[in-house]
Amino acid sequence: MYAFEYHRPSSSKEALDLAAKKSEGKFLAGGQSLVQAMKLRLSSPSDLIDLGSVSELKNLKVEGNTVLVGAMVRHAEVAASPAVQKAIPALAALAGMIGDRQVRHMGTIGGSLANSDPAADYPAAVLGLGATISTHKRKIEADKFFKGLYETALEPGELITQVSFPAPKRAAYMKFKNPASRFALVGVFVADFGGNVRVAVTGAGACAFRQPDMEKALAAKFAPESVANIKVKSDGLNNDLHASPEYRAHLITVMAKRAVEAALK
Ligand SMILES: Cc1cc2nc3c(=O)[nH]c(=O)nc-3n(C[C@H](O)[C@H](O)[C@H](O)COP(=O)(O)OP(=O)(O)OC[C@H]3O[C@@H](n4cnc5c(N)ncnc54)[C@H](O)[C@@H]3O)c2cc1C
Repeated sequence: MYAFEYHRPSSSKEALDLAAKKSEGKFLAGGQSLVQAMKLRLSSPSDLIDLGSVSELKNLKVEGNTVLVGAMVRHAEVAASPAVQKAIPALAALAGMIGDRQVRHMGTIGGSLANSDPAADYPAAVLGLGATISTHKRKIEADKFFKGLYETALEPGELITQVSFPAPKRAAYMKFKNPASRFALVGVFVADFGGNVRVAVTGAGACAFRQPDMEKALAAKFAPESVANIKVKSDGLNNDLHASPEYRAHLITVMAKRAVEAALK
């Protein structure tokens, strides 16, 4: 690891002032991705701006039909929240599937989304539910947030403050996980907003993406058989030691079908 300066601001303003002054600095959430990247010398920020004491980023609440998750809310808190379990059970369940107990107690939604790992779970929920990502200066629709491999719409120094999820009529997330890391080889989030259906896939491509053929079929009839025979093209899907593009394409259909079955239970 290279040398760096460590800062622990107590407000977003202080964190943003530091980020403005330290152009090579980075925000630190739970350190679950960033610290590893630093150890591997893939990232060498001059300054770490630890958001751990910024209490305004830690709010988790349900307002009407919307679940509001502050950027520094840990996965374990979302999974265990009775309010989230009631409003969007699929979101709480997804958070409970991330990594292991230690990862869930350190990892945050803001860090997960800013990092945009191709196999991360939250991007599927954000895209599948049509969430809005708030930063200190704007609101970004989920459809405009994920841009590519570890690439998002965030600008340098832009701070995610909160994510708002509209509650659907029904939803479910199914993932075929890597047994070692528990990251998604393929994960599919299906949400029915009463005729308007969204299907989001993670793990299969450079970043999370929607599956319009399945959305159309499910809007016509929200049933497992609507997606069971949809063959997904493998072009451009991830190819690594864990799975071929063809296998991932197959898994998208299988996971989508299982997600619809689960949403109907
Ligand atoms: C062993 C292991 C297993 C895992 N398994 C899974 C899994 O199954 N599914 C899954 O989805 N994830 C998994 N993860 C990832 C984990 O859940 C974290 O969400 C992810 O690593 C981000 O970590 P973090 O929140 O600690 O952010 P950090 O590592 O602290 O930061 C990540 C990046 O986000 C930036 N950042 C952080 N907060 C903000 C903010 N508010 N605004 C703007 N930028 C910000 C940082 O500058 C950095 O670039 C796993 C991680 C590990 C180590």
